Amino acid sequence: MAKVLVADDVVDNVKLLAYELTDHGYEVVTAFDGPQAIAVAYAERPDVILLDIMMPGLDGIEVCRRLKADPELRSIPVIMISALDMDQDVVRGLDAGAQDYVTKPFALPIVLARVRSAARTKADSDTIAEMNTRLSELAITDGLTGLKNHRYFRESLLSLRALTNRQGLPLSLLMMDVDHFKAYNDNFGHPAGDRVLRELATVITGQVRQQDVVARYGGEEFAILLPGADESAIRATATRLRSAIAAVRWPLRSITVSMGAATQAPGGSDLQALIDRADSALYQAKRNGRDRLVVFEEPAVVEIAVA
Ligand code: GH3
Ligand code: MG
Ligand code: MG
Repeated sequence: MAKVLVADDVVDNVKLLAYELTDHGYEVVTAFDGPQAIAVAYAERPDVILLDIMMPGLDGIEVCRRLKADPELRSIPVIMISALDMDQDVVRGLDAGAQDYVTKPFALPIVLARVRSAARTKADSDTIAEMNTRLSELAITDGLTGLKNHRYFRESLLSLRALTNRQGLPLSLLMMDVDHFKAYNDNFGHPAGDRVLRELATVITGQVRQQDVVARYGGEEFAILLPGADESAIRATATRLRSAIAAVRWPLRSITVSMGAATQAPGGSDLQALIDRADSALYQAKRNGRDRLVVFEEPAVVEIAVA
């Protein structure tokens, strides 16, 4: 059921329209001057607004302009209802953003038909807005695990680095790769492997903070961005992750992961270096026997004594 805001300073006009609209199945909210119309629009989010032009304080033209200037309210269709019936009044109303203009005295069936039409427009634009929201979510989500995808990971790397730099905090990256996953797939089949990846996603998400970004980096590899985490925080997180993964009752064979981490001090900007370091630490974890964490360390500077 569509919700209609009727705004008019003449109480009888509001009463008549409210009565008729309610009778035709609409939910009706009312306002009796301009500022109130805006306040009710905010609070009630009507689907259609019937707006009188001549009101004391803030007239309907100005109310309409303000509603249309607000991204949250601009999609609500406004129908001007006014005794001002000159061509230039209609032009002024439409130019202020109104979708329609009805002159007083009005024929009730016409007003009702215009409200129906505006409500249809609003329903369509709501549907489009919902689809857009859904598409934006899909564009940043990994289809298998529901985690953020690689694209989102790249974007949040930039935004979280900027944020932590403003805060004077470090930024850490943890890369995780499932051990011997090819053999798991070969033995138990790809669908069983998929279930492991989904379960891992749930386990990881349960072990990190709200502000951390968990992404499927690719294949059987996950990337976790930890804003503000220093090396000891990374170690603590990795320890929790390893225990949580070990605690899962894996149905077919126990699962282990290798992890590589790197931390960048506040003010850092070379994000590819952060990825490369976490990656090389992960590689080292694999070489050292898997099922472990390696934190990247700068190669020691070796002094060569000159004879
Ligand atoms: P390592 O311990 O060195 O990481 O060995 P590994 O076998 O895990 O590594 P490798 O890179 O050789 O193989 C990765 C495997 O991950 C092969 C591939 O079939 C599997 N894999 C990648 N993406 C998916 C996926 O979406 N679903 C499933 N089930 N398997 C996947
Ligand atoms: Mg692997
Ligand atoms: Mg891999």
